[in-house]
Amino acid sequence: MDVTASALSPRRPTRQIAVGSVKVGGDAPISVQSMTTTKTADVEGTLAQVYELAANGADIVRCTCNDRGAAEGLAQIVPRSPVPIVADIHFHVEMALAALEAGVQGLRLNPGNLRKPEEIRLVAAEARDRGVPIRIGVNAGSLHPDIYERFGGATPEALVESARLELAYFEEVGFSDVKISVKASSVATMIAAYRLASETFDHPLHLGVTEAGPLPGGLLKGTAGIATLLAEGIGDTLRYSLTADPVEEAKAGRQLLEVLGLRERKGLDLIACPSCGRAEVDVIKVATEAQAALEALNLPIQVAVMGCVVNGPGEARHADLGIAAGKKRGHLFIQGQIIRVVPEDEMVEALVEEAKKIVAEGLEARLAARDVSAEAEAEADRAALLDDRGADANHANERIANIRRRSEG
Ligand code: SF4
Repeated sequence: MDVTASALSPRRPTRQIAVGSVKVGGDAPISVQSMTTTKTADVEGTLAQVYELAANGADIVRCTCNDRGAAEGLAQIVPRSPVPIVADIHFHVEMALAALEAGVQGLRLNPGNLRKPEEIRLVAAEARDRGVPIRIGVNAGSLHPDIYERFGGATPEALVESARLELAYFEEVGFSDVKISVKASSVATMIAAYRLASETFDHPLHLGVTEAGPLPGGLLKGTAGIATLLAEGIGDTLRYSLTADPVEEAKAGRQLLEVLGLRERKGLDLIACPSCGRAEVDVIKVATEAQAALEALNLPIQVAVMGCVVNGPGEARHADLGIAAGKKRGHLFIQGQIIRVVPEDEMVEALVEEAKKIVAEGLEARLAARDVSAEAEAEADRAALLDDRGADANHANERIANIRRRSEG
């Protein structure tokens, strides 16, 4: 039974906006964002990264627009991009106007550093006339100093107040085509801020833990914050902010949504046992090799790598395809049913070959084409392994006998 969807709270209703071709909010799929690290003026370099991010799960990509060269770059990047482009604006109102002129599908404004009301209204009016949405991107690290002082720090209430004030300026010119983020590098602050934002606004929310840092800590922080909120039904789009190749951000965002059952699986889901004293192969090595080979093919399939045949196929019976090691051989299985036994040094190759066939022919056809003698061979390996280690590997029977002897004595 798939309990994934019911394990999460129902999604909180928000109004829907469109960032180019990508709908955000309402019943639109939760989207993944990332940001380029190239100079935006470097059109070819930036486009290459945008394509890589899109191929790895980004639905929307943000590029900085920090000078005239960047704005001119955007004018060439936007029409050639496979996904909508959002321009990131800090401090300079003229850069926001130039990015709109360049044709971007969205703007991100930081209310902490674009502070003059007349400038905010000017950008909002221009975005309104062009039908371009704006993200009010509040960040605990660059909160407006007045608000910081009033609330005694970058509290959740302060972050939400900053967004509310910005929104009020927008509404003065009749513009509400907005999504909101209230990011902090503290996971606890960020969670509290988004909960409050969700009660305060009906605009779509863009989730993120800012400045989360390098892997693996950055991934953990991002996941702790974003997944907690998604499980509560909060969030319409997200970005992991990692000190890493932005491809990692796109992959992480996509994978998080897939494991929560919020987006359909597009790529590989490799599961592997943690290995233990029973393992018959170097599980880490086989899993790493299998991941590299299968990821390159980008097949939408769940694959298991299990260290032994004693527990492996049973424990991974929910996987589309798997391999378990035993007696210098690999047992290839589909949904727990053994389909072939292969030599140990051909395990990864066999796994990749079968994965391709499953995607091309379907699970039923591949189960029908199984080697009928494989189940018996596998059973023999399993029995031999249990014998080798003794069916009572933990000496339970001996302990029970001792307990009985004591209680009788
Ligand atoms: S599948 Fe086998 S090797 Fe892997 S953790 Fe389980 S018992 Fe240990």
